[in-house]
Amino acid sequence: MQKIRVGIVGYGNLGKSTELGIRQNNDMELIGVFTRRDPASIHILTEGVKAYHIDDAINMTDKIDVMILCGGSMSDLPEQGPFFAGLFNTVDGFDTHAKIPEYYEAVDKKAKDSNHICVISSGWDPGMFSLNRLYANVILPEGNDYTFWGKGVSQGHSDAIRRIEGVKNAKQYTIPIESAIESVREGENPEFTTRQKHIRECFVVAKEEADRAQIEREIKTMPNYFAEYDTTVHFITEEELEKNHSGIPHGGFVIRSGKTGANNENTHIIEYSLKLDSNPDFTANVLLAYARAAYRLNKEGGSGAKTVFDIAPAYLSIKSNEELRQNLL
Ligand code: NDP
Repeated sequence: MQKIRVGIVGYGNLGKSTELGIRQNNDMELIGVFTRRDPASIHILTEGVKAYHIDDAINMTDKIDVMILCGGSMSDLPEQGPFFAGLFNTVDGFDTHAKIPEYYEAVDKKAKDSNHICVISSGWDPGMFSLNRLYANVILPEGNDYTFWGKGVSQGHSDAIRRIEGVKNAKQYTIPIESAIESVREGENPEFTTRQKHIRECFVVAKEEADRAQIEREIKTMPNYFAEYDTTVHFITEEELEKNHSGIPHGGFVIRSGKTGANNENTHIIEYSLKLDSNPDFTANVLLAYARAAYRLNKEGGSGAKTVFDIAPAYLSIKSNEELRQNLL
């Protein structure tokens, strides 16, 4: 069987996890990693695989079937997404929710012009969470959606703390409030304020001369990030941060609570939950399943940008349709 030849653009957390994820998919092989940094400074784990400068990708269009774009959503993907859509089938995890429609348009145009399939915004949120919200909504048209995140590290909130004067390093956890989840699971259809769904816990390494009370005040009153939440701040040492908070866990719950029956007497709860030791490992594995789909759809003559909503589940699986049908019995 000819393997799907995969390239990785961007070698950060997600890029490294994608490399590891390829090892779990027997129908895929890694061809190369493309970076903006000096390729000689990049240590690739897979034997025989090289790092290339990102500008070299243009010369490898006949060697790579799908490029996995692992750049950051804020400034890398808006540029790299449309660019690589003009050259390859691609998959990315673009997660700037408000900008997905304009990103879709930009990628779609390039993908159609170049006859490629480009899956945008896969991963878990957006991605698996979006898909599960859709399935739950079509099954229970009358009801409410709830999404809880965590316990997990929020990169954006951790960065925001690091920008405060006197802060050396920081990690922020988003934690769902258990009683709120329970109330949803009971079918009570509650309405929540922001503060009633999640709390935020911060672990901060302060510089020696820093005013800790001032740092705590600045964190807790930061609009859009912390002011709307109950936030706790712990000051810890660099060693404690390294020892106890170096992982990138995440997860969450997508719940739909719906009613049926002549008098809405029947309550139904659909719940999808994720508890992830490593956010990038999980995200990478979702991207790889969609890489398989992008490859197959393109082989069938398809082109354009796609989201998880557009792709039938069978395209994601390494199994044949015949094998999948056996599992339905
Ligand atoms: P990173 O910050 O680790 O990497 C982003 C880019 O920064 C890399 O592609 C790399 O590009 C560059 N980079 C990484 N490390 C270094 C370094 N030491 N020095 C200089 N440059 C570096 O981000 P993540 O991999 O954690 O996440 C990527 C994106 O994935 C996020 O922005 C997020 O939007 C998305 N994501 C989506 C999820 C979803 O559910 N949809 C879930 C999780 C993440 P280069 O090699 O070219 O230098």
